[in-house]
Amino acid sequence: MDRLTELLLKMEHYALENKIPIIQREAGTILTKIVKEQAPHSILEIGTAIGYSTLLMAANLPSDGQIITIELDHERAATASRFLSESSFTHNVQVLAGNAGSLINDLPGPFDFVFLDAAKGQYPDYLEKVTAKLSDGAWIVADNVLFRGLVLQSANTPRRFRTIVKRLQNYLYTVTQDSRFDTTLYRIGDGLAVTQFHKEK
Ligand code: SAM
Repeated sequence: MDRLTELLLKMEHYALENKIPIIQREAGTILTKIVKEQAPHSILEIGTAIGYSTLLMAANLPSDGQIITIELDHERAATASRFLSESSFTHNVQVLAGNAGSLINDLPGPFDFVFLDAAKGQYPDYLEKVTAKLSDGAWIVADNVLFRGLVLQSANTPRRFRTIVKRLQNYLYTVTQDSRFDTTLYRIGDGLAVTQFHKEK
């Protein structure tokens, strides 16, 4: 087994033991496929957790590619930095601890690729804030956009999930109806939206 596979397995065990959500296998395969094919030079990830998806992307980046990844929970951000320091991609990744909703504003961009995997109810806000920082032809991958299937069939949504479901519906409406975005929705796991952005269309 190579070093990367060993580290990814170690992280999977850690996530399972500590009940930390990380990207599911099918979504991870699509994520890495797009990164490999599009070879982005600058990635913004929102929602690092322990750096599992960060490592998947880093391993498929061009050698001068850079990832900025943001995690709200300081302990998780520190764990992510520790795991990533065991890889050979330390120089490609910067882990920022804090609230993405405000930290995004301080990042100059441009970003060729954005992976959204944090607070689902904040996706429309993240989208609005990153759109101004996207390069032409940039990709946005958003995980868990179907939220337990409730986003496409919301009639019986429990009250406590109504805001999240409504905001995810708004997110999907924008990326499918705004002519600057082309989106494919994958009904795998909890739903993965893959979007390409064009400045002028
Ligand atoms: N992308 C990770 C992976 O696949 O390995 C999993 C991320 S996990 C599903 C979501 C993470 O987003 C959690 O660790 C959570 O603490 C973080 N998060 C939630 N709200 C956030 C915010 N406002 N800013 C930054 N991170 C946030």
